[in-house]
Amino acid sequence: MPVWDDLVGQERVQTQLAAAARDADGLVTAVTEGTAPPAASKMTHAWLFTGPPGSGRSTAARAFAAALQCTSPDRALGGEPGCGFCDGCHTTLIGTHADVEIVRTDLLSIGVKETRDLVRRAQLSPAVGRWQVIVLEDADRLTEGAGNVLLKAVEEPAPRTVWLLCAPSLEDVLPTIRSRCRHLTLRTPPVSAVADVLVRRDGIDPAVAEAAARATQGHIGRARRLATDEAARARRAAVLKLPLRVDDVGGCLKAAQELIDAAAEDAKQVAEEVDTKETEELRAALGAAAGTGGRMPRGTAGVMKELEDRQKRRRTRTQRDTLDLALTDLTGFYRDVLALQLGSAVAIANEEIRHDLDRIARASGPERTLRRIEAIIACRSALDRNVAPLLAVEAMTMSLRAG
Ligand SMILES: [Zn+2]
Repeated sequence: MPVWDDLVGQERVQTQLAAAARDADGLVTAVTEGTAPPAASKMTHAWLFTGPPGSGRSTAARAFAAALQCTSPDRALGGEPGCGFCDGCHTTLIGTHADVEIVRTDLLSIGVKETRDLVRRAQLSPAVGRWQVIVLEDADRLTEGAGNVLLKAVEEPAPRTVWLLCAPSLEDVLPTIRSRCRHLTLRTPPVSAVADVLVRRDGIDPAVAEAAARATQGHIGRARRLATDEAARARRAAVLKLPLRVDDVGGCLKAAQELIDAAAEDAKQVAEEVDTKETEELRAALGAAAGTGGRMPRGTAGVMKELEDRQKRRRTRTQRDTLDLALTDLTGFYRDVLALQLGSAVAIANEEIRHDLDRIARASGPERTLRRIEAIIACRSALDRNVAPLLAVEAMTMSLRAG
């Protein structure tokens, strides 16, 4: 069915979700008519989608939500849910369905207050659709307190409520919550499948699509950005030059500083696009008096401060995401080097810089390359532990040094 079209290379998951969507109607009928739920129904109230970044966790959750809300007339004739065109499917996919709440955070964590609001929402019966669907795209970002608030709701869901949680891995979600969810694992889609979708859906030139898919190793969102955004390509090219510049201590420190600066610059750009507009809107909503130098009414300082804090947290998050991308690209570089050193038949991700890869491969051995990859992994976990970014990245570039 068309609703699954955006799900790339996930046939097994798709089959399970389609079966659940098919069985969901029986459950709705049982609830509305007060009869016993059908035995062996493949539908359930809480789902957990895990898979590596870019595998399409939230795409899968959204497609499933659409299939649950599908109102196509064909369904009365035994047609499969998920036509992609009816009002239910369409509004879910574009994010305007009244009974589908999609929670995506640009912050590092989701707190108790936001979660309480969601849980309240989840208690409601659907207004127009069959189900009240809550998609929590970053379930791994729930604070422990928030997780406990959510647990209650997942344990005793309203009869027509479905929770769709997404997280990178099972370990990222509280054990008490994940044990109450049906678990679906998405895989990294094959490079060819990603390239196909870029050509088919985004009209990208096949050669460009293929290169972007290969470079990002099956991460659809990143592949699309790389294929369409020149600034992203430039940033990536700069990151991939780093291994050639870490010959001495001075070079290492400089490279580290540049990585940090690039991430900060990216965060600043995002902030400029979003923050100003947000602040203006809030000021207007609070009734900043025009013509009085925009002075704010008394008692609104706290609300403005709250927005500023939120924006600051978002900048930190963007900065960290950009840094994380750079580390992923660097790991890819050394993985290619390792493949060359071992004469492995694995396809090289960064074919366009083959010359640089060869140079590093010749100048070192596989053991050295493995230690370098470990240094990048160590940097990433230091960042996760909130070590000051510059310190963590400097320690990494020093370990990448030649010799
Ligand atoms: Zn439909």
